[in-house]
Formats: sequence, C-alpha cells, structure tokens
Amino acid sequence: MPTSKSAGRTTVRVSERAFLVMCYSAAEAAVVSPDFNAASYRLLGAWMREKGDLPIRRAPTKPPSIIVSETGREVAGILTGFVKETRNQTTISVESAMVITALCAEDSVLTSGASALLLADLCEAARAPLPVASFHSHPELCAAPREVVEQQLFAPSKADLDGPNFPHSHVALVITVAWPDKSRSRPADLPGLLCRRIGDFNFYLAGHLPGVRNWSATDPTLEIRIGY
Ligand SMILES: [Zn+2]
Repeated sequence: MPTSKSAGRTTVRVSERAFLVMCYSAAEAAVVSPDFNAASYRLLGAWMREKGDLPIRRAPTKPPSIIVSETGREVAGILTGFVKETRNQTTISVESAMVITALCAEDSVLTSGASALLLADLCEAARAPLPVASFHSHPELCAAPREVVEQQLFAPSKADLDGPNFPHSHVALVITVAWPDKSRSRPADLPGLLCRRIGDFNFYLAGHLPGVRNWSATDPTLEIRIGY
C-alpha cells in the first residue's frame, strides 16, 4: 500500500562499500558486545572462587571466556552521499556509512541528533558528500531464521516509524543481522527489502521515509538497491 506523503517515488542506491560497513558493524555489535550474560557471570564466579586469593598468573586455570549478551547490541550510524530530486522521483545515493556514538541496548539505541549536525559541518569543511540518511541495526541472532521472516523482525519497528528523524536524513535504513536457514537460500529481493548472505550471516536491508507511519516490503514508492 503506497503510504508516502507525496505520490512520488524514492529510490535509495546504497554503495557496496556502505552496505558492507553497515553489515560489519551490525554483526560486530550483535556478536561481540562486551556484556556479560548470565552464563558468563556463572563462569566468572566459579573461576573467581577457584582462584581464591591467588594472583591471576598463579591461578590453576585461566580466566573463562566471557560470553556476550544474549541478543547483542544495536548500532546506529549516518550515511553520506547525494540526493537528486525531480518532480516525481527522489534518488538518494549513499556513498559511505559511519557508525556514530550511541548508547546501545539490546532492543534500542539512543543517539544524539547533534551527531548528524556535526558530521554535516565536517563533511562540508572537507568538501565531502554530506549526510543524507541514517541507519540502525536489528540484532536478531537469538531468533530462529523462520521467526525473523514470519515476524518481520527486519522491518522498522513502531518506535522506528514514530521516532524522530535525524537532521539531514531523507531515509532511515534498518540493517538486520540474522542466521540463515538450513536451505541457505536467500529470499528474492523486494522493492523495500533486500537480503544478502555474507559469511555465516544473513543481512536484511530495509528502510522507511520520514513521516511515513506504515511499512511494507512491497511498497512501490520506496525502492532500495545495493550497488550503483
Ligand atoms: Zn529498529
């Protein structure tokens, strides 16, 4: 169902390089965030008891590997590039992605709108492409591959759709990191949803326009592409 504010179409062209930066940062935050989960606390507690008062170098066993939080963390970032607008068509070309400082939790990420303003100043001073979009990740490694698809965990959440828009952001992208299913095949591309397999992960890329409160992967008014 077309839900855009205007009748026009928006095409988002994401460079391969920017897409990979989103994928890498989403996977890294999902897999190796330095949070202890309950199992880690148990391992660490048992090791501390075993070690007693001995210094670490004299302990009978090495410290245990610490397991990260159960779901990993979200990351957020700014995308820079160019916007070309004609009467019925907006084309957003994303060249680069950069991760911004954020308070990252398992199911949310808190960022400062000033990040985009500062980056816009710096990009302008450097005569480099300006911020045109934003992104955040959905770490879904705790969900079964089927759940990710059935529950559309790659879709912008209600909070995403209702939330504030970053300054300079013409589109907000969501990069989801999930496990592939056993068939290891990837779903066909839809206008508003792409899936790519990289290493052991499936990455889904979706997006939504500011002010649009509904999301559908088949909404023809927003098309996302990877590569120019
Ligand atoms: Zn989200």
